[in-house]
Amino acid sequence: MSEVQERAAAALQRIAPVIDELGARFAAAGEQIALVGGPVRDAMLGRLQNDLDFTTSARPEVTERLLKGWADAIWDIGRDFGTIGCRKGDWQVEITTYRSEKYDPSSRKPEVAYGDSLAGDLGRRDFTVNAMAINLPDRTFEDPYGGIVDLAHRVLRTPGRPEDSFSDDPLRMMRAARFASQLGFTVAPEVQDAMTAMAERITIISAERVRDELVKLVCSPRPRAGLGLLVSTGLAAHVLPELPALALERDEHHRHKDVYEHTLTVLEQSIDLEERLPGGGPDFVSRFAALMHDVGKPRTRRFLDDGTVTFHHHDVVGAKITRKRMQALRFSADDTTAVSKLVELHLRFHGYGDGQWTDSAVRRYVRDAGDLLPRLHVLTRADCTTRNQRKADRLRRTYDELEERIARLSEREELDAIRPDLDGNQIMEILGIGPGREVGAAYAHLLELRLDNGPMSFEDAKAALLAWSSDRA
Ligand code: ATP
Ligand code: MG
Repeated sequence: MSEVQERAAAALQRIAPVIDELGARFAAAGEQIALVGGPVRDAMLGRLQNDLDFTTSARPEVTERLLKGWADAIWDIGRDFGTIGCRKGDWQVEITTYRSEKYDPSSRKPEVAYGDSLAGDLGRRDFTVNAMAINLPDRTFEDPYGGIVDLAHRVLRTPGRPEDSFSDDPLRMMRAARFASQLGFTVAPEVQDAMTAMAERITIISAERVRDELVKLVCSPRPRAGLGLLVSTGLAAHVLPELPALALERDEHHRHKDVYEHTLTVLEQSIDLEERLPGGGPDFVSRFAALMHDVGKPRTRRFLDDGTVTFHHHDVVGAKITRKRMQALRFSADDTTAVSKLVELHLRFHGYGDGQWTDSAVRRYVRDAGDLLPRLHVLTRADCTTRNQRKADRLRRTYDELEERIARLSEREELDAIRPDLDGNQIMEILGIGPGREVGAAYAHLLELRLDNGPMSFEDAKAALLAWSSDRA
């Protein structure tokens, strides 16, 4: 047996209870069912997880009936697309009725029409390695487009002409880049040519679908490959134009490195540092912040008379650009705020010099980062791509020292919960005022004092508040 066959056999053994039982149930009802797409491909690659996709002749209402009494839970949010989902033990199962899609090339969403054969269903899938199936219950292998050969060569090819496939659904171009990164495959030359020729067609796809593929790409083990494809085919110019814009020509003095190359290296280094994050990796927010941290550079670049280049305020400008892009891609408000805040803060550490920060500056760093602090640590450490080993070592040691200082200060002061020493009620009581702007101003003043000086006793805080108030009068 070949290595691929051995891996597939081992994976099928592991999922035998699920596929055998489902196969028997559907066969008894006179319906066809087959394991299809991702899980067949992943079984052969030795990377099968717990998601199992099936395709069937049964209509959704029949599938639902056949799952009742077998599945632990059933859901039907995909019913309009022919999909019924269920959970069986540790397995997540999705069963979709055969499709033969009719496309209106100008529409954003393919119209779903049911098909009547497995062959027809496989023919409308995106790539040959995703167009393989295993019939159940007899486990015969269906591979009409030579997916197994492409899988052995680790290459993405479309079942039909790539131009037709991408014209039916331009999102498949993004999926090619995503699978290149996720599976470590190359893209066949004719597929890459079609992506290049048709890149502009991606603009008819909804931002949400583009975003979901982008997230999967960025969270894959080798995002450089997929991002490189997006840029070289021209897709990135439509979905993430800030990325190709980083490939600034060098200035005549060759004083700054290619920001695009630097960015990809920072992304890879930040992936290597993800084990430092509380939730581990892959962490989209951290990765996307690495990707976007310098997007303010092209717009802020200035050449000085002495031949040097500056990028003043590229952190602030970059944060704004990031926010706009993430809003356009319909990211959640939380993700958008988190990533743009990291971009805005990514240079802050460089004021730390040789550990000259005051306690006040350290408190502000912690407070401004808030719960993004672990990711800011990762981003700042990753944002060092100098070839000068001594310089890199020095930066790392300086950052180690900053983290140690934060730890020591936190132990004394519970830094993560910095609040003024008096709360709103105490302020109103001491000043004898009701709710209003004055309370807010007093609160802000006490917070500044708290950041500058550390914790105060109640008596000291009260005295400070009264002094502030009489100054204003
Ligand atoms: P993963 O679940 O790991 O992301 P997958 O291959 O299962 O990978 P899905 O997006 O879940 O990818 O899609 C399931 C299957 O449906 C694919 O393997 C492919 O056969 C088919 N498919 C999904 N999206 C498309 C599309 N836009 N065009 C054609 N076929 C598609
Ligand atoms: Mg899947």
